[in-house]
Amino acid sequence: MTISVRGKLEWLFVLAMLVGGTCIAWGVGRPEGDVLHRNMNYLGLLILVTAAMGSLGAFRRSHRKLLLHLGEQLESVQGGVEGHIVLDRSDEDAWETRPVNHGLAILGKQMDEFRLANQALTIHARLAKTQQQQSENILGLVSDAVFVTNRFDELIYANQAAEHLLGFQLSASLRRNIDQVLSDGVLIRLIREARTTGLNHPRQVVEHTFDAHHTPQTFRMTLNCIAGPNGAMTAVVAILHDVTREKEVERSKTEFVANVSHELKTPLASIKAYTEMLMDGEVSDPESIQDFYRTISGETERLHGMIDRILTVSRIESGAVPVSLEPVSMTAVVKQVTNLIAPQIQAKRIQVEEELPPVYYQVEADYDLICQAVLNLASNAVKYTPEEGMIRIAVLVDEKRGVVTTEIADTGVGIPPEDLGRVFDKFYRVRTNSAVAPGTGLGLPLAKFIVESIHNGTISVISEPGVGSTFSFELPLMA
Ligand code: ADP
Repeated sequence: MTISVRGKLEWLFVLAMLVGGTCIAWGVGRPEGDVLHRNMNYLGLLILVTAAMGSLGAFRRSHRKLLLHLGEQLESVQGGVEGHIVLDRSDEDAWETRPVNHGLAILGKQMDEFRLANQALTIHARLAKTQQQQSENILGLVSDAVFVTNRFDELIYANQAAEHLLGFQLSASLRRNIDQVLSDGVLIRLIREARTTGLNHPRQVVEHTFDAHHTPQTFRMTLNCIAGPNGAMTAVVAILHDVTREKEVERSKTEFVANVSHELKTPLASIKAYTEMLMDGEVSDPESIQDFYRTISGETERLHGMIDRILTVSRIESGAVPVSLEPVSMTAVVKQVTNLIAPQIQAKRIQVEEELPPVYYQVEADYDLICQAVLNLASNAVKYTPEEGMIRIAVLVDEKRGVVTTEIADTGVGIPPEDLGRVFDKFYRVRTNSAVAPGTGLGLPLAKFIVESIHNGTISVISEPGVGSTFSFELPLMA
């Protein structure tokens, strides 16, 4: 933008000076006492004073105008400073405007630099926002709960897993103190401690169990302290990794090893004792010797069966047995199982009652594995039912609920209430029933694993000592 300021009054001032000067010169040239001598002097003086005052006023007006234009120019700084101020004389580089134009040129240059810096900053800010969004999206996909608190213990970030696990909404809890967001006191204390110990222990790993969704769950909690650019502690990042399942597996492995060694020791001890007695010649009559051999053989058989079962359980549990799901009729399964155990049923003269639906009602199952589960339940029913007892096997279809229930009920010895909750544990045998039949305590846990872990079903038992037991499991009915 170019601004012009008029300077015509300068010419008027020069003209007035010339006229005034001529008047005075002419008056001075007249003889003294001549009227013109005095009057011309006065007239010249008057013209000079008037011209001086007029020029002064014009000068002031012109400079006020100049300042006004300058003000306007400066006000337009936001839109960019361009051009320079010129007077309306031909001299573009007038001494009055030179410093202002110089200042405007510098300002213009600085404005350009500022504009460029501003653009760069905007791009960086957008880039940072996109990166933050990307990081948040990635953390959102992580199954571990991740949340961040600042140095005032206020929540500043949480991923979806943390919201779900700890039961809060990030939008409603942002910038709120963890006291008001988390319900578990130990968790709050651990975060506070991590913040206070801060950068001396920037990474801490603790194991903590708390009620998540009303069930105790164990978490490996990693607390990381983050330092700001000035080295001061700015945030605590908490990562909660669920180790409940790992802990259970660890515990059941330890239990398994302890139980296996205990269970294997019993027949081994008996084999060892009988063999030693035979070797030491403690029995001499052929009948007793035969008896000892029979016991050794029986115990060896038991040991063999036990090892076989342990291997089956561990192969199935470890996933070594391939699972192939297909439409299966539970009626067909029950028929096959009752055929398999027919010799034992007949030997004990047990009466079997069956209630089976047509074969077109099917469940999605692995035929061999589901046969194994039914076999374990049915052979237990035979084992723990006295001679001439009764077993009822029913397959019930509930189309409304979309489930097929397989029920195996017996009139056997039953299970005491205090043992009911543990019969599905590995190697657990009801002490009062142990004398009724030999066993390993692996039949029911395997049935439970097959039904619940492989087929997503549910298995349960109701029982009354001296009256009988009913084991049942449900599987989804295929549409
Ligand atoms: P086991 O090889 O000892 O039969 P299981 O795991 O099959 O092992 O069963 C665990 C325990 O549950 C058994 O030792 C037994 O005491 C009890 N049990 C299982 N089924 C029955 C039943 N039908 N009647 C009474 N007790 C049973």
